Amino acid sequence: MLLFTPGPTPVPESVRVAMAGETLHHRTPEFEAIFERTRTLLFELLGMDEVLMLASSGTGAMEGAVINLAHSKLLSINSGKFGERFGKIAVAHGIANVEIKHEWDTPATVEEVQAALDANPDIDAIAIQICESAGGLRHSVEAIARAVKAHNPSIMVIADGITAVGVEKIDVTNIDCLISGSQKALMLPPGLAIMGLSNAAINKIGSGKGYYFNLATEIKNQRKNTTAWTAATTITIGLESILNRIKGSGGLDKLYADTALRAKATREAMVAIGLSIYPVHPANSMTTVGDSEAKKIRSTLKVFDVNVAGGQDHIKDAIFRINHMGLIAPYEACWAVNAVELALATMGRRAYDGTASRVFNTVYFGF
Ligand SMILES: *Cc1c(COP(=O)(O)O)cnc(C)c1O
Repeated sequence: MLLFTPGPTPVPESVRVAMAGETLHHRTPEFEAIFERTRTLLFELLGMDEVLMLASSGTGAMEGAVINLAHSKLLSINSGKFGERFGKIAVAHGIANVEIKHEWDTPATVEEVQAALDANPDIDAIAIQICESAGGLRHSVEAIARAVKAHNPSIMVIADGITAVGVEKIDVTNIDCLISGSQKALMLPPGLAIMGLSNAAINKIGSGKGYYFNLATEIKNQRKNTTAWTAATTITIGLESILNRIKGSGGLDKLYADTALRAKATREAMVAIGLSIYPVHPANSMTTVGDSEAKKIRSTLKVFDVNVAGGQDHIKDAIFRINHMGLIAPYEACWAVNAVELALATMGRRAYDGTASRVFNTVYFGF
């Protein structure tokens, strides 16, 4: 069965092998050397002033970012489950939260962010997804972050890049905190969250807030190539391995270009067989198809050995999501779109004529 869910994504064999060694103690020169090399690779990946690795799923980094960077009021952008989570984290910590809420196919606009900032002069941080994975949409984070900094440069911009880092090159000019996680575009098992910070964010963090996710404690330790608490040693080893593997496969720019092309070829193939793309502005991390028979398409796809994700909550059975994150061979991606056409044919929705794979190959290989 081909795993085409937008997280977890398949872990390449070379990375699984790299992680198969004996467990290292985290307070040893041996592990500190691995940690240091991985930090160097993360500086290249994120392009930020500081990087942190946290032993948690991605939500831990979201919580750490909110409690350390939003001191008076958070503006959270909710166009889906993950944006909603930022607001819930603020509320759980007694931090005031203003929310801009949309249906899950609709991104936030610069104008409404500006209006929220005008109405709430005490907002000191904004939290937004780069890609909101709930519906596969891409927010205009660059434009929104620019507008926020033009309004007041001391407002912290927290960008959840869990399904964007490793998918596309992110302009971090106006971003103070960029979050990533192990089990999506980085093709690792779950359990490691990654965070990039600007110097302005480091200043604002000061002596930090919270305990496990006190970022000041982590900054102090990680600059010495160690962690405050027990490091996620095995996944850190996997992270060094995958980042080197990406380098050896042509580098980050090639990964971004291949991912964008696979996403475009997949979207065009879906439209060519009569399906519609759910989000107004689709991200390249996944293709989300909106369809009243999405649930049936998903189960029929299993017959053709393809596992895609459905939705959550109110759009649980109204969408399916095909992953593009990671080093994915075009022959696998092409099989996935072909399988969707086979599923539609099985369901009697259209005659099978190979349109999906033809369009995919035409776009991807330029025939
Ligand atoms: C997966 C994901 C997260 C984090 O979820 P965890 O289950 O805590 O790893 C956060 N934001 C986005 C956009 C995601 O796709």
